[in-house]
Amino acid sequence: MKLFESVLNLIYPPKCIFCGQILDYSAVIHICGSCFTKLPFSDSAIIRPWQEDEENYCDGALSVFEYTGMVKESLIRFKFYNKPGYYRTYARLIADKLNKLTNIKEYDMVMSVPLHKHKEFIRGYNQAYLISKALSRLIKLRECSKVLKRERYTESQSLLDRQKRNQNVRGAFSVKLPKKVNGKSILLVDDILTTGSTLEECSRVLKQAGAVKVFAVVVATGRK
Ligand SMILES: [Zn+2]
Repeated sequence: MKLFESVLNLIYPPKCIFCGQILDYSAVIHICGSCFTKLPFSDSAIIRPWQEDEENYCDGALSVFEYTGMVKESLIRFKFYNKPGYYRTYARLIADKLNKLTNIKEYDMVMSVPLHKHKEFIRGYNQAYLISKALSRLIKLRECSKVLKRERYTESQSLLDRQKRNQNVRGAFSVKLPKKVNGKSILLVDDILTTGSTLEECSRVLKQAGAVKVFAVVVATGRK
């Protein structure tokens, strides 16, 4: 740990991202022992593409947790209640699971699902980008989020059914630098996987731009 970081940790000791308990200043993953035993870790190794009746662009996904209880509450704080620092722990957990289950050498780059700039301005950060940046350092792959762009503002997905979600995100993204993804295998980062419409649409434009493989990594999912 760098000196600056150690000093910061003494002043602002790390806290468990699930219950707020103060942790040892040297803690790397900010989860207390008690929460760790209760967490709904996702048993599924790789989640297969989700829309079996339709063409799939995303080649699969991996999730650390099930989207429920304490995980759901922590992700809500991360996104809406100004707890961007949680990205460090989320990124480490994703990196650990990726290391266990996949061959990271197969991939060329990491990128996040873009937020519309208005949303990012209001929130002050793109939560998926923070995870993507940290993840890229941990697994030593290039971070290329600037390649993907959100073209238009989309209604919040959470109240829509799957069909409406698909329509809602259609054409919402574009690839700004197709050369960068042509022939490449990509890890695509988001915080939550629900229906998969957003990840699927990002994968579609990436594949159209020549990407060979798009594999999604998320903190939590409601899918098995
Ligand atoms: Zn805790």
